[in-house]
Amino acid sequence: TAFFDSLTEQKPDPLLELIAKFAADPRPGKIDLGVGVYRDETGRTPVMKAVKAAEHHLWETQQSKSYIGPEGDPVFLRALASEVFGERRGGKPVAGIQTPGGTGALRLAAELLALDKRRKIWIGTPTWVNHQAIFASVGLEIATYRFFDIEKQAVLVDEMLTTLRNAAPGDAVLLQTSCHNPTGAALSRQNWRDIADIIAANGLIPLFDNAYQGLGRGRVEDAAGMIDVIETVAEAMVAVSCSKSFSLYRERTGAAYLFGDRQASLSKAIGNLASYARTSYSMPPAHGAAIVAATLEDPSLQRTWVDELSEMRTRIVEIRQAAAEAFGQFRAELTNIGSQEGMFSLLPICPENVRQLRSEHGIYMPDSGRINVAGMRVRDIASVAERIGPYLT
Ligand code: PMP
Repeated sequence: TAFFDSLTEQKPDPLLELIAKFAADPRPGKIDLGVGVYRDETGRTPVMKAVKAAEHHLWETQQSKSYIGPEGDPVFLRALASEVFGERRGGKPVAGIQTPGGTGALRLAAELLALDKRRKIWIGTPTWVNHQAIFASVGLEIATYRFFDIEKQAVLVDEMLTTLRNAAPGDAVLLQTSCHNPTGAALSRQNWRDIADIIAANGLIPLFDNAYQGLGRGRVEDAAGMIDVIETVAEAMVAVSCSKSFSLYRERTGAAYLFGDRQASLSKAIGNLASYARTSYSMPPAHGAAIVAATLEDPSLQRTWVDELSEMRTRIVEIRQAAAEAFGQFRAELTNIGSQEGMFSLLPICPENVRQLRSEHGIYMPDSGRINVAGMRVRDIASVAERIGPYLT
């Protein structure tokens, strides 16, 4: 009779568990490479100066907190679209809807794709742990292909292209725009053009997960491959997260954008997304989007934000260069950490050794061996690598 008691026990999020274990560890030399947020050299994830200033401005000028509607703030959507896609997108019509974070955008996109029961979504592995769960939760059939070879620290481009060539027309393909989670692996511009051609020829629908723009090579550079694809294909979907690029994690700020050839069909599709929003969370949280709009619309705040984002990227690149050398001494392939991008790299290490590393050296990472390179201080990298090296497989 007890309904709640009859429910299946859900496993706690392993990353949250890891955070709790880290917090409870009394050792002063402990290091957290597990958490998926940017850290500065002092180990903090600060509020950006541009964001603080935008919040101040909002506090002074906001006249009402009345409802805004399931599609969110049009000023935010327009400003974010110009920032993310720039001028160059083949003049293709675009339409967007504000969402609770990148996750909310992925979920809405998944709902739409799941309307056609014959459709599969192709996902390269390994990928962000939540991807498969999101698509499974809407009943979309998931098909996987190998994207990355951990031992070789290399993208399996040929395997990827062959998979896309053999996918059925109408199938969707999930692509990470830049700074791949969890591998850091980057595709070349030629790879992106090949992907674009196959998607177009085969009538596939690309869904981009764009969660780290600006933390790889640069704001414009990070989107170049995605825009090649958007320009080439008939229709495309993009889930944008402002969590990392504006350091707005808990404000749940993001958007889903659709590209197609006719504004009328895009409006219809956005209407469908809005109706999913209406029955799940009604409308997106406003504060984070208002901050992003205020930042991007004000030239001086925009410059401050661009500088802060560049500072984050520069720090990541510096860490990667030092880490490439330090880890490369243990495995030559790990020098690729230097050419990988964004916060994550995936070490060749087994779960058993991950646990030993944690108990013996106080170095924390999830069982997968994913490390957030921003969890290290430049001056500690050599010693961190010395401690991790012997545990690599
Ligand atoms: N996609 C990827 C690849 C991510 O790593 C994350 C965040 N960890 C997200 C999407 C979702 O971000 P958000 O917090 O904006 O929902």
